[in-house]
Amino acid sequence: MNYEELANVLYPDVTKTIADLEKMYPERNLGEGVEVTRFAPSPTGRMHLGNLYASFIPEVIAKQTNGVFIVRIEDTDQKRKIENGIELGIADLEHFNYTVNEHPIKGGAYGPYIQSQRLEIYHTVAKYLVSIGRAYPCFCSEDDLTKMRENQERRKEPIGYYGRYAKCRNLSLEEIKEKIANGEKWVLRLKSTGNCDKKFIFKDLVKGTIELPENDIDQVLIKSDGIPPYAFAHVCDDHFMRVTIVTRDDSYISSVPYHLELWNACGFKPPKFAHLLPLNIKDGNSVRKISKRKDPEAAATYYHEKGVPVEAIKLYFATLMNSNFDGWYLQNPTSSYRDFEFSFSKMSKNGALFDLEKIINISKNYISRLTKDEVYNALLQWANEFDQEFAALITKYADYTKAILNIEREQQKPRKDFAKWEDVKASLWYMYDELFNNDSYEWGKINNLDEIKMILDKYFSNYYDINDDKDTWFNKVKELTDSLDGYTSDMKAYKENPDNYKGNVADISTVIRVAITTKSMTPDLYEILKLLGTQRIKKRIELIK
Ligand code: GLU
Repeated sequence: MNYEELANVLYPDVTKTIADLEKMYPERNLGEGVEVTRFAPSPTGRMHLGNLYASFIPEVIAKQTNGVFIVRIEDTDQKRKIENGIELGIADLEHFNYTVNEHPIKGGAYGPYIQSQRLEIYHTVAKYLVSIGRAYPCFCSEDDLTKMRENQERRKEPIGYYGRYAKCRNLSLEEIKEKIANGEKWVLRLKSTGNCDKKFIFKDLVKGTIELPENDIDQVLIKSDGIPPYAFAHVCDDHFMRVTIVTRDDSYISSVPYHLELWNACGFKPPKFAHLLPLNIKDGNSVRKISKRKDPEAAATYYHEKGVPVEAIKLYFATLMNSNFDGWYLQNPTSSYRDFEFSFSKMSKNGALFDLEKIINISKNYISRLTKDEVYNALLQWANEFDQEFAALITKYADYTKAILNIEREQQKPRKDFAKWEDVKASLWYMYDELFNNDSYEWGKINNLDEIKMILDKYFSNYYDINDDKDTWFNKVKELTDSLDGYTSDMKAYKENPDNYKGNVADISTVIRVAITTKSMTPDLYEILKLLGTQRIKKRIELIK
């Protein structure tokens, strides 16, 4: 067979050669240890945490080695496409502050970064494979293939287009020309040289050495519409984008023998592979992959809208990615995850389970360590997008808001009350007259309005002084308590004989706290009273009826 001629018959319009592509997309000038990684989503739009975790890994590895991180859109399956899918997906990655060096919107020297725009590249490589006798056209119809499969099932033989079943392997050039002239549809298949009785050994960066049967199937490289399925497309793309590490879902591992056969047939040096377990979610008693449809709490927009800081989610990803991250972070609590050295060898082989509670906890800790200015700025940025009314309020009262946010902050053991920016208004609304309402009071043990008013009157007329320091302030609350019939500030005495008393100093503090804020749980009451100021305190007490 004259393969050169066959190549021209099949791809008459392809004028470029592999050598041209090699020149157009030259090897990158990378130093020792520098990695080029990529994330290759379908254009299905908004990301969920599973996608964001899958992109976190190649991004940190690229960044950590001063390498390149690429986002490539794999849109060969047009059914999965949604309108603006590419833009929305990239917007989510950018919101996560991932450093993406090359992507479809931004471009780059190794583009286009959308597979449907790379057909010329695939066809050039396909033509090359035909010209060296490693690929051939197959004219089998769906019907032929179904019959073949049924035959194989009956005989309990492996399923697929291989060996003696690969009948189009044997067509002559004349036969091929005739079929094409008759307008018969064809796909391009690899002519596999593998033997499934032989073992194929390769190394995965996460899983170590893997042994699988060799591929012997003549898989489809280019479909009849000219579009390549995933396997062939990724080989061409990762080669000509000069990717050094392919990170991708674990489900691809069984196809690696086939993929590597392709890499070798094309004469390309294969990259390193890291097959990653997906971020799973618990569903009843079983565990499954995160799904955008079934798991709204896993959507990137959910966190964005609620205001969970991106940094906190990335800290969570870091703990999932490397088991030694937690310990390191405990020792380096003020560091960024970027300071940690991530590695594939420390990746869990058991997979990661999505844990909302852990994200919330990490976020609370993360926010508690921020300064008041950092909290204010991030809160304002979030509010500008999702709660403009609140944004206007905290802009109007910027210093006052910062002072509120600084209560029990910037200290050794900061208060951990916010996990997300929407929590701020929900927990501190009473600090703003514009938001204050006294529809309900969370009175505690002391709930008789006459008694409450008597206590407040006594406290604010005889004891409270806004200029007191905290110790003096608290001593005065104790003095007030002891001056009231049946109450004690002596907690020890109270605990020994609670029945002897109507209440203790905590109950009196609660009266003051609830009177001013309506809430029984607030940050430090001393600070709150000081910030609200005498005028506002007076007005709030007048509201109690
Ligand atoms: N488009 C493929 C997917 O979404 C990407 C696989 C890869 O990263 O190579 O599963």
